[in-house]
Amino acid sequence: MAIQSNRLSTEEYVVNFSDVHPPFDHPEGAIIESNRCLNCYDAPCTKSCPTSIDVPLFIKQIASGNIKGSAKTIFTSNIMGGGCSKVCPVEKLCEGVCVYNLLEEEPISIAKLQRYSTEKAITEKWKLFERKPSTGKKVAVVGAGPAGLACAHALSREGVDVTIFEKDNKGGGLMTYGVAAYKVSPEFCQDEVDYITSIGGIDIQYNKELGKDISMTELQLDYDAVFLGIGVGIARELAIPGESLSGVVDAISFIYDLRTNDYSRIQVGDKVAVIGMGMTAIDAATQSKRLGAKEVTMIYRRTENEKPCTDVELALARLDGCSFIWLASPKEIVGENGKVTKLICSKMKLGEPDASGRRSPVDTGETISIDVDMVIKAAGQIPFEDLVNETKLENKTGKISLDINRETNLKGVFAGGDCVNGGKEVVDAVQAGKDGAVAILNYILGNT
Ligand code: SF4
Repeated sequence: MAIQSNRLSTEEYVVNFSDVHPPFDHPEGAIIESNRCLNCYDAPCTKSCPTSIDVPLFIKQIASGNIKGSAKTIFTSNIMGGGCSKVCPVEKLCEGVCVYNLLEEEPISIAKLQRYSTEKAITEKWKLFERKPSTGKKVAVVGAGPAGLACAHALSREGVDVTIFEKDNKGGGLMTYGVAAYKVSPEFCQDEVDYITSIGGIDIQYNKELGKDISMTELQLDYDAVFLGIGVGIARELAIPGESLSGVVDAISFIYDLRTNDYSRIQVGDKVAVIGMGMTAIDAATQSKRLGAKEVTMIYRRTENEKPCTDVELALARLDGCSFIWLASPKEIVGENGKVTKLICSKMKLGEPDASGRRSPVDTGETISIDVDMVIKAAGQIPFEDLVNETKLENKTGKISLDINRETNLKGVFAGGDCVNGGKEVVDAVQAGKDGAVAILNYILGNT
């Protein structure tokens, strides 16, 4: 058993990491699909979208050939509507509540239609928004992820100049660095960032990290307001023996490497264990398989009924050949010569429901042992607690606290997205960015 890179041919990497949800082959496909929509009154699809995209309207616009209008409808609610059409778990959002489900028919392919309009707008660089005259105000946004970009775009539309400080060398945040490559390509992420900033009045300064290259005090002094969209990103430790052995990695770093390097350079084991069953765990497991791992086993401490990922994500992992051990919790990672060789797990059973309403896993006292040469930890992410404490932001275990005006305890400093809620979907972060922009406009302009 060995961890190694370059397991597959160039052609195999291309096939394995190609688009998992391909677009319509022909425009006629989009027209036909859009004509299936019933244009429901009080549409459940719109209500289930965190950014409240007017789904029946944009679909009707596609049906009538008004693609530009359709893109504008989407972007008005969600400026990252292109990326969201690729990464949103639509099976638990818009498509999951489409009335066709009640008729036991296929729901409308909302994501595919949304992609149809937005990709065209981004590719053809349609200018759909004009900035209002300058207000003379300037705002600093920390983080060029979905929350920061959505906030910046909403402010720019209102005539506010925005400077985004991004610690990495690309924008897009989680979209660029934390999602499976077969869902959204790095090239598309860059195009989307360029499209958003093409409105003007948004300057992104890369490789500028809060707390290192810039201080909160400087930002408060130099700008009329500050928005923090710093996300979460520290992998949760398992706190078990053997975690520092060679071959034990966290899913965030694994996916980050995959997104920023040639696939052939990414090391993967023959026998990989992935700990966790959330979306990041699924992305790590499926991509391990697609990099050429022979066996990938996902380990979860509850049963399939309590899994945090969606049925669609689980089905994808199954299709990729991953296997699953339910009711098992990692107890110890064993190694030889500094390298991981075994994962010991406690067998669990379900006990009483916990605060989440799901039944808690309880240790049975029995163990199982799995031969592995790589362990990927995907047991959740934790906020940047040190950073928020250093900047004297009130927080709850690292999650930034806000008042009813979405302002932090620091004057003129607002926040939104994963750094406040602990980690939700990209589309939730976009809405948080929009909400932050409204709060900032109220603050700097006295809007109501
Ligand atoms: Fe169209 Fe389905 Fe939305 Fe109704 S619920 S408006 S059919 S997409």
